[in-house]
Amino acid sequence: MQVVCSQNKEEKTAPIIMLGDPAGVTDEHLKQVAEAKRFLERWTADEKFRELAAADVKAAGAECGMSMDPLEIKALWDRDAAIEVNRTDAIPLTVKRYREFVKEKLAHRDTLRNISCVPQNPVFKAWRARHINRCWGQFGNVNASMIHAPVSFELNHGCSVGCWFCGLDAPKLSAVFEYNPQNAQLWRETLSVFKKLAGPSAGTGVCYWASEPMDNPDYEKFCCDFHDILGTFPQTTTALPLKDAARTRKLLKLSNERGFWINRFSVLSVEMLHRVHKEFTAEELAFVELVTQNKEANMKQAVSGRARIKMRKDGSLGEGEEFNPAEGGSGTITCMSGFIVNMTDRNVKLISPCNSSDRWPVGYWLHAEGNFTDAASLDILVNKMVEKCMPTAVRAADPMRFRPDIKFERMDGGFNITSPFISLKFHDTPHIGEIGEMINAAVYTAGEIAVGIADKHEIQVAEVFLTLNKIFRHGVIDEEPETVRF
Ligand code: SF4
Repeated sequence: MQVVCSQNKEEKTAPIIMLGDPAGVTDEHLKQVAEAKRFLERWTADEKFRELAAADVKAAGAECGMSMDPLEIKALWDRDAAIEVNRTDAIPLTVKRYREFVKEKLAHRDTLRNISCVPQNPVFKAWRARHINRCWGQFGNVNASMIHAPVSFELNHGCSVGCWFCGLDAPKLSAVFEYNPQNAQLWRETLSVFKKLAGPSAGTGVCYWASEPMDNPDYEKFCCDFHDILGTFPQTTTALPLKDAARTRKLLKLSNERGFWINRFSVLSVEMLHRVHKEFTAEELAFVELVTQNKEANMKQAVSGRARIKMRKDGSLGEGEEFNPAEGGSGTITCMSGFIVNMTDRNVKLISPCNSSDRWPVGYWLHAEGNFTDAASLDILVNKMVEKCMPTAVRAADPMRFRPDIKFERMDGGFNITSPFISLKFHDTPHIGEIGEMINAAVYTAGEIAVGIADKHEIQVAEVFLTLNKIFRHGVIDEEPETVRF
């Protein structure tokens, strides 16, 4: 069977400039990139700054403390200037260096999704790969920003910040997992359970989810254990970088010393951005991404969790209406296809991203959920989830139908399916067109299709299953789950 995909998912590579050896970047190089980044942060988040930049770029540069001529980086924020500069060979060095840095970060993200996050366990690996395929069809380019991490951990129950847009609708902070001897032991054993299951990919997880890292006074201790056991210091995203700036600074230093450079601050208001810029120098934040979530920023929050609830209330998402990915934006912030472990509740969820809906309001499918008491019971639980909720092949009793977002079209020698973002051609396999028609009818089980086609064409049932499984691996079969409770 030949499957042709219209979406170009070619890997991008970038020369290793800053991420390859961050500590070895020259002061001049770092300053150029850091100052350009700072200017762009103001430009992205602050409407008044955008107006100032358009009217008097030098004044705008001075306002964000630039030591270089801000005209040199105009191509980074002004479309006409970018077109003009790209036509010439005279691209300013700072623009080149900033663009290379961004390319490096994007290439790093692709490497995470395609290599580093791939679980060692073959069943988990196949399940995750199939959901990534599904997500290309359901999210388009939004999927490019998702690494599909195999596991993440919550060290608190809930979050103290209470962002109005919280895509996971995090509850109020009600419990913190303290680093005492018993908890430290459980934590280290928990990490070992996931190391055994997912191998080095477990190190791509983070120690927060619907929770705020800085809410946990022992966060850094947990991160050091994570690094010791899983080999990577975990990435941090915090909305509280200013709560204790000295602590934040120490955490960034610790992260860098242990080889991890890209962390994030969530910026909730223009005023907060100003305070962050005042507290930390441009160079200090060169490797810290500022995610500008304030209302003046020229980015839209994902339609998920509390942002979705607000849209329902203000009527921008009507009753019965659901997020439509074809209209742009994102219907999820879930960048996981795997396990969320809450250490305070001793709870595990198996999830994968989906566009938010009344059934899945926080933008993920909940495949399974269960509780554990200790590392041994956790090990049993996650392995049961793998066994029961991660099918690697279709079973005879499985109902076969395409995902609801897919359009089926019969063609000579096979069939086409299209979603708003992807087009796949399935052809060059005997009887695949008829098999596609039976799946599209949405009334047959896999066994009924296999027996029906095998009888009609006098071939082996196993041959039909082979074709069904090839189709299945592309993530086009409807797998919206009923949550299994363990
Ligand atoms: S977005 Fe993050 S910081 Fe804000 S409420 Fe949700 S979990 Fe907390």
